[in-house]
Amino acid sequence: MRYTVSRFISLLLTLLLLLSGCSGGEPSEPPVSAVPSDFPIETSVISLPDVSTEQTETIVLTDEDLHKGDLLLVNRNVYYDASLCADEVTSVREGRTTQIQEGTYQLPIGKALLSRLETMQADLQSATSADIVFLVNDSYRTMDAQQAVYDDLLEQYGQAYVDQYVAPVGRSEHHTVLAADLSFYDLSSGAILATTSDGAAPYYAWLLENCRKYGFILRYTTEKEAITGYSAESWHFRYVGVPHADYIAAHSLALEEYLEQLKSTSFESRLTIQTDRGERYSVYYVPASSGETAVRVPKGDYTVSGNNVDGFIVTVREE
Ligand SMILES: [Zn+2]
Repeated sequence: MRYTVSRFISLLLTLLLLLSGCSGGEPSEPPVSAVPSDFPIETSVISLPDVSTEQTETIVLTDEDLHKGDLLLVNRNVYYDASLCADEVTSVREGRTTQIQEGTYQLPIGKALLSRLETMQADLQSATSADIVFLVNDSYRTMDAQQAVYDDLLEQYGQAYVDQYVAPVGRSEHHTVLAADLSFYDLSSGAILATTSDGAAPYYAWLLENCRKYGFILRYTTEKEAITGYSAESWHFRYVGVPHADYIAAHSLALEEYLEQLKSTSFESRLTIQTDRGERYSVYYVPASSGETAVRVPKGDYTVSGNNVDGFIVTVREE
């Protein structure tokens, strides 16, 4: 019985999410803010003195690469085709190695994202000594799935309604494998706890404070509504990777603002980010050329991500 009720509530939650926030925004949430940052994080834009002697190589990236990586921007103005990452998708049920829960049967999700959520969940459990797991209400959504929701609501409620509440096809972060709508599930009681419910308070506080260490940010806050174009969503977490999540949290930025700031960096003038975990990174931007882009990278530990618009971000692990 409890299980049935839980499933019912879960379905309701999922339906609500499809209707609102993650599709367009329901203005009934209390103000949602990322936790103010008081952790020590040193950042600076520096010119590397030894850049001429650094061992480097040149890699060639294509237009296709522009739409791959952890730092993709997708919003009302920036389109993303969900089929680009379809190969990376599993379902929570098929891919999980823990008791992480799914909001609907066989909920689609990126393989790497699922694994990252499970890692964060394990530390949440240790930190709070609670039998708590994440319940993923929504993650990856195909274009067809978004279209079906859109069409259905258009037919039921009309154009004005969908314009306000439903993300157009190709304009949702849920088309990538980088976003998840989370609530909590109490394994011992079977209770589902929405992020802002009283019962979730200790778990949600932990999540807000610590998610950056796992590369996640709270994507839509009340303060940044004008920039993100979406109403605040307490449940929508976005993977951007470390150290970007650290920097974004430390400086209370929207992803849009961070990606814009990075455009003032270059191979010779990088943003350095020192995390409170003793890691140091340097980050720089390379504008994309049409067709192929030659990108100078240091030999060693680095990753590259497209921004889904006009350039690439190189992240170098310095120590
Ligand atoms: Zn969402």
